[in-house]
Amino acid sequence: MVFGFGRRADDDDDDEEDDDEERELVLFQGALNGVQPNMKENARLVSAGLMRAKEIVTDGLDRRAGQIRIEPKGERSQISFVVDGLAFAGDRISKQEGLAVTQVLKLLAGLDIKERKVPQQGAIKSEYSETPYEIVVISQPAEGGEKLTVRTTNLKVKLDTPQDLGFSEELRQKMRAAASDPGVFLIVGMPGSGVTTLKFAVMRGVDCFTHQIFTVGETGKKLDNITPFKGNPGDSLQMTLGRIVRVDGDIIMTPDLKDAETAKVLFEECEKASLITEMPAKDPPSAVVQLLEWVGDPAIVSQRLNGLITQKLIRMLCTECRQAYRPNAQFLKKVGLPENLKVLYRKPKPDPDDEEEDEPEPCEKCNDVGYFGQTAMLELLEMTPEMRALVATKPDASAIRAQVKKEKMTTLQQDALRLVAEGKTSLEEVQRVFKA
Ligand SMILES: [Zn+2]
Repeated sequence: MVFGFGRRADDDDDDEEDDDEERELVLFQGALNGVQPNMKENARLVSAGLMRAKEIVTDGLDRRAGQIRIEPKGERSQISFVVDGLAFAGDRISKQEGLAVTQVLKLLAGLDIKERKVPQQGAIKSEYSETPYEIVVISQPAEGGEKLTVRTTNLKVKLDTPQDLGFSEELRQKMRAAASDPGVFLIVGMPGSGVTTLKFAVMRGVDCFTHQIFTVGETGKKLDNITPFKGNPGDSLQMTLGRIVRVDGDIIMTPDLKDAETAKVLFEECEKASLITEMPAKDPPSAVVQLLEWVGDPAIVSQRLNGLITQKLIRMLCTECRQAYRPNAQFLKKVGLPENLKVLYRKPKPDPDDEEEDEPEPCEKCNDVGYFGQTAMLELLEMTPEMRALVATKPDASAIRAQVKKEKMTTLQQDALRLVAEGKTSLEEVQRVFKA
């Protein structure tokens, strides 16, 4: 990928270079905070950095980068792209150019370009290849200047429903049942792990025609057929939940469960409604242990907790260049895959017997990364009668894990192996993800 082109296109010059000259670049359509960037007053800055900024963002979008970073590194600025959760180094540009690009993107996002000591965040409405994008611009002071992070969101791609997230039909039905009964259903994960996306998928997975569904507090997103509840200002969470139950609300998305006080309220107010929310925790067994401590009464947690779900993202093999191989049965047994599997897939490896000259054609689809896109591995901790009995004894996390295993519930590792067996990802990628 070359950064150098995209300068002003000459209409009637040089035919051979036309492909490069006509490269489509991202269109910036204004700051989302409504601030009108003063391009005239900043004409020098705009001429120094705008075209380059467009090229860098366009390169990022071409590579499907969720993040583009520009940061000062010694005498130069380093560009990097984060694709499917993994960072790749891009070009190094001069420090002045890095500064100009940073300042132009801040200007376009409606930020204060004179302020360079305080972190700022804004967003630019954008369009590329007839697709709308939201480009979030985050600036942070860093050694040698400012570090810029650009987050891109393709507004056409929806990762919203359980189907979109790759839930199996069986898991979908179990989850729907657990999330519809009176009690507490939790979406577990550390912030930034996709936990909020999963929460919305769970909300979309419940039957909105047979239930009265409400949300409490700021959700950041509008859900079809789900009403944000307008409580009385000054009401406590407990009072608000009580009010919703009185108007027959029976599924309620509540604010995140982050402390003992909220835990106590949720477990008290869930006798007539299913309360669904997210809880920051390493994994479902650790979340149960934390709940037991916060709520204080193991009997209540054991009776009223209906299930916990978590997810982890994994990269999918590029379907254009993935390489099939025949695994041996012993190896399959060792990693826990069905021994009768005939074929697995991996990122293409150069054949060691080949002469170095015959390098394979680079893959255009994935830029030779070997992976394209991500999918979710899912884990559902089901509150079976045996699990409820165990939770009532205030167990530690390892006892809960042992019970999960005993009852053969779906775990992240097992779901990962399902994806390997289906050829969607590789064993190498599974190892990478679980090592991290
Ligand atoms: Zn490929």
